[in-house]
Amino acid sequence: MIPVAFDYVRASTVEEAVAALGAAEEGKVLAGGQSLLPVLRLRLAAPTVLVDLAEVAQLRGVHLREGALVIGAMTTHAEVAASDLVREHAPLLALAAGTVGDRQVRHRGTLGGSLAHADPAADLPAVAAALDATYVVQGPAGRRSIGAADFAIGLFTTALAPDEVLVEVRLPSTAGWAVHYEKFHRTSQSWAIVGVAAAVRRDNGGIGAARIALTNVGPVPHRARTVEEALTGAPATPTAIAEACGPAAAGTAPVDDLSASADYRRELARVLTTRAVCKALGV
Ligand code: FAD
Repeated sequence: MIPVAFDYVRASTVEEAVAALGAAEEGKVLAGGQSLLPVLRLRLAAPTVLVDLAEVAQLRGVHLREGALVIGAMTTHAEVAASDLVREHAPLLALAAGTVGDRQVRHRGTLGGSLAHADPAADLPAVAAALDATYVVQGPAGRRSIGAADFAIGLFTTALAPDEVLVEVRLPSTAGWAVHYEKFHRTSQSWAIVGVAAAVRRDNGGIGAARIALTNVGPVPHRARTVEEALTGAPATPTAIAEACGPAAAGTAPVDDLSASADYRRELARVLTTRAVCKALGV
């Protein structure tokens, strides 16, 4: 289908983008277009103005500031996966970014676009939740920060106001943590039926701390706090890990769809969480 007609604004600063969104009857940011263009073509959205961020240089790149990793919203999945800084300070994100879609999608799609789109099956929102990301957004009144738990508020819905732009994502460093992203999907390039993001800190041969979040077991990423608590202080053995990961599906709200039933997703949550932690620790 052909999208409904819209005006096009190519912003060169975040301020220009915010002003254009504020002036529009219904404005939408255009990042990599990997999710938005299909949505427009299916006429699931009909914005009057598209505000393209492609030339906003301040939204690109990866930096280390005061021990935290700062990633510009327009940094592509391929750039995230290849960044030495991300590999060192957020190895889980680098790993997961390399599993998103195919090569073309990773070279066009952006971290900010994936997080702002808030697809329940997307990989990176769960990773950001596991890594305690802070989202920095800018609107007419300036910048504000939103914690990972408060950013995605429902199916394809975030705390972003219509005239706000996601500017950057900040992640506390997890340098040296053992990580794995376990994605169950039908083909190598398809979306996760369930995905598990796991980061584990070793401590005297056991597990000192754990951060676990799941994708596609509810409308928003699910942080598996019960599992994290059970893993903390446990020995790094397959038996102890399997026991701690038993309640991985507790508190999730999966749905039945063409890919899997809700019950199957709950079982996947348990199995994949165990697998992700074992693979992270190499046991
Ligand atoms: P766009 O499509 O441009 O925008 C998406 C939405 O976010 C729009 O509503 C837009 O207004 C909003 N937005 C974008 N940037 C901002 C911003 N800075 N501030 C405020 N709002 C913003 N994703 C996965 O996680 N895993 C997969 O396996 C996967 N496979 C894919 C396979 C295919 C074939 C395709 C086409 C996509 C796939 N994706 C997958 C989605 C991909 O990751 C997209 O890159 C991502 O969902 C959207 O990023 P984008 O930069 O293209 O954003």
